Amino acid sequence: MQIAVFSAKAHDRHFLDAANARSGHVLHYLEARLDRHTAALAAGREAVSIFVNDRADASALAALADGGVRLVTLRSASYNHVDLATARALGLTVTHVPNYSPHAVAEHTIALLLALVRRIPHAYSRVREGNFAIDGLMGFDLHGKTVALIGMGKIGVIVGRILLGFGMRVLAYDPRPSPEALARGVEFGRLESVLAEADVVSLHCPLLPNTRHLINRTTLGWMKRGAVLINTSRGGLIDARAIADALETGRLGALGLDVYEDEAPLLYDDQSGRGLRDESLARLITFPNVLVTGHQGFFTQEALTAIAAGTIAALDAFGTERPYPHTLTAPGASSGRVPPPAPHGSASSFPLEKASREKAVAAAAG
Ligand code: NAD
Repeated sequence: MQIAVFSAKAHDRHFLDAANARSGHVLHYLEARLDRHTAALAAGREAVSIFVNDRADASALAALADGGVRLVTLRSASYNHVDLATARALGLTVTHVPNYSPHAVAEHTIALLLALVRRIPHAYSRVREGNFAIDGLMGFDLHGKTVALIGMGKIGVIVGRILLGFGMRVLAYDPRPSPEALARGVEFGRLESVLAEADVVSLHCPLLPNTRHLINRTTLGWMKRGAVLINTSRGGLIDARAIADALETGRLGALGLDVYEDEAPLLYDDQSGRGLRDESLARLITFPNVLVTGHQGFFTQEALTAIAAGTIAALDAFGTERPYPHTLTAPGASSGRVPPPAPHGSASSFPLEKASREKAVAAAAG
């Protein structure tokens, strides 16, 4: 097949070319990000490959379909940037790579957490300048502390497993409690109560209309004063202004971000010569207790190998009798969406019934 690869970086070429060696599809690499204006660049190709900051909204999809595209492959697990209803209406097939490496993101979460609680960025800068003083670098043990994981899917479960290994008490909030996590001793509860008990809060749920700004002024008020917040999930889960105010007052003790709500214009380019024009992010990174990485949680060799393999498998399977299993537009495909909980900011949520906890533990036991 002929495929236009949007938002293509050198690493995309490297891993996609390697995965394509046997299949022999024709890959046309484009630096441009997909949107309604750039969609015409794919004219004449049967397929496109897009990444998280491409915009496959209704008009971009219509322009792709007009140009002859029939298959949209996502180099990501998440698909909140794709209008699936429009894709279906246009007869486009949309595929994703749901299982590429939850370990990559889980381990990055732990990297941010440890770096913050042990003040590694400061220590690193000091030692490079020949300064071996340790005043101001005192951290705290994670052992014996409590973490709240919001979202216990593939990534949240691994983060929980690692932090249980550190000797932390692991609480979680998720409308679908994971049997594996329950069996390991993770305690599920309501959003308000898990936030209230946690020394560390880490976000691992998807960005949906009902999870946008899940961390806001109200829910920050439920958290322990001085708690550490980590977000490697999606930037829109956090109200950045509320967070900056909470850092200023000390209500929030430290913040680790791999994602940011308005990251799209920033990623993945070297903007160092231009100055940061995003005032809200500029404010956040001035805090000494804030550590931000540029959406690199997925960026490991293993994850990129799996993403490329999934993309090529989707191309190989297209139009054959053995459809690619992770097809979001397939009839009966799960939308991946869960029934909406009551809006956050209320004391709503998912108290786990005893019966369902027992059922889940029994399921985990086999
Ligand atoms: P997953 O679908 O396996 O798990 C998501 C979990 O969130 C599910 O258990 C679901 O029940 C739960 N959930 C849904 N709505 C919720 C709500 N309102 N409150 C609490 N929990 C809720 O997803 P995953 O693979 O574990 O990915 C988690 C997040 O990580 C996604 O948002 C994804 O976009 C993000 N991600 C980030 C990177 C990165 O590079 N930083 C890479 C991959 C994925």
